[in-house]
Amino acid sequence: MTPHRSPSAADRRPGAGFAVITVGCPKNEADSDSLSAALAAAGHRPVAAEAAAVIVVNTCGFIDAAKEESIDVILAAAGLARRTGARLAVIGCLVSLYGAQLREELPEVDLFTAFEQAPLFALLDAAAESAARNRTGGAAEAPAGPVVSRTTRITRPRRPVHSFVKISDGCDHWCAFCTIPLIKGRYEVVPPSTILENADRALTAGARELVLVGQDTSRWTWPGYGGPARLLADLKSLGAHWLRLLYLQPDGVDDALLDAVAEHAVPYLDLPLQHADGAVLRLMGRGGDARAYLTLLEHIRARIPNVAVRSTFLVGHPGESEAAFAALVSFVRAAGLALAGVFVFDPQDGTRAATMPGRVPAAVAERRAARLSEEIERAAEPFWKQLIGRSFEVLVERGVGDPRREAVGRICYQAPDVDGVTYVTGRSTRRGAVLRALPADIIGYDVHAVAEQPPADVRHRRGTP
Ligand code: SF4
Repeated sequence: MTPHRSPSAADRRPGAGFAVITVGCPKNEADSDSLSAALAAAGHRPVAAEAAAVIVVNTCGFIDAAKEESIDVILAAAGLARRTGARLAVIGCLVSLYGAQLREELPEVDLFTAFEQAPLFALLDAAAESAARNRTGGAAEAPAGPVVSRTTRITRPRRPVHSFVKISDGCDHWCAFCTIPLIKGRYEVVPPSTILENADRALTAGARELVLVGQDTSRWTWPGYGGPARLLADLKSLGAHWLRLLYLQPDGVDDALLDAVAEHAVPYLDLPLQHADGAVLRLMGRGGDARAYLTLLEHIRARIPNVAVRSTFLVGHPGESEAAFAALVSFVRAAGLALAGVFVFDPQDGTRAATMPGRVPAAVAERRAARLSEEIERAAEPFWKQLIGRSFEVLVERGVGDPRREAVGRICYQAPDVDGVTYVTGRSTRRGAVLRALPADIIGYDVHAVAEQPPADVRHRRGTP
């Protein structure tokens, strides 16, 4: 997003309440967090959507399912805005791809802007001004804020437990199936000062884990500052309990990066490989093959003890023969991945793969996806089973007052939103706490654990018998 200059205190008028609803991936969440922070710095207030004067929907346009979800969310937000009198802004990737069409088909939306923030600030300023005029009995206008009925529950945004921090945007890889370079443009690094500022703000708000995201995080470096080793060290020194890096493209993974992860971050590497058959990878416009990836995985495990490697695969890409799919299955059986997401090829306008010959029938692609998911889960089982009985930190996302009930959290091998979770019984705990627990069972990618009791002297100090 193009940042907007925050007004000085002298510029400020009483702000408007706003709510940002995010569709899509952690990178979009990072954008929404930065936007919310910038709006708050300009004097506006984050509130629940039911209480907002301006509702902002940050959309996704990556695949058809995400586009459909974005439209559903826009329509739901438009319904809410109609009931409450809020104004509605739609931003992000879908606007970048289909702005003109959306403007025509969704007249109930007050503002469309892809990544330019200034019009959004203008909309919030106008909403705040309108509210101020209404308060002072000035010109009668459409309500600037919502009409909130007494029964509407207004919930304030909760303290974050984790925060997605964007370190780069855009991508230069131009994979044949992917719309990201079309939507976001060329690879761009977020400067370290901005990353550290965003991270500091998230930690101050209560986040215990920082998840670094971008389309291609392994490439991150800044002239005169250094690469990921310095960045991770600086982020750690801000007080992050956990640091995690997502979206490391395999061609950018080197020893400096691996050593930095081993030293400062959780032992978890997200390595989107997309396929393992060399010919399919070439059609995708990517490098590598099964042998190169197995060598890389071996090297990663040697460099980061007890690491969990997550990946992503795309099946049914044009040109994926039965033999190529079989090569992918053999690869996942040998790779020892802890988990992986599987996507079915979904042709997108403007991408090279959309017009490639050798299209795989949809039913075949779906069948392959189901088969690959099963193979991945089976191959990952030993990794998860060996955790049983070993002590792990759990970062609690949902606490409980009653120790017989299950708190929900994550161990270091579970990234927020994309992986499984850990259910913990045996201790009352609160959101954002870190406790130790012993995994007792694994179901799918979820861990079921029993909390270890705090040391006796700690219990004593708290007055627990
Ligand atoms: S590396 Fe990832 S974001 Fe970049 S073009 Fe390929 S799939 Fe898209």
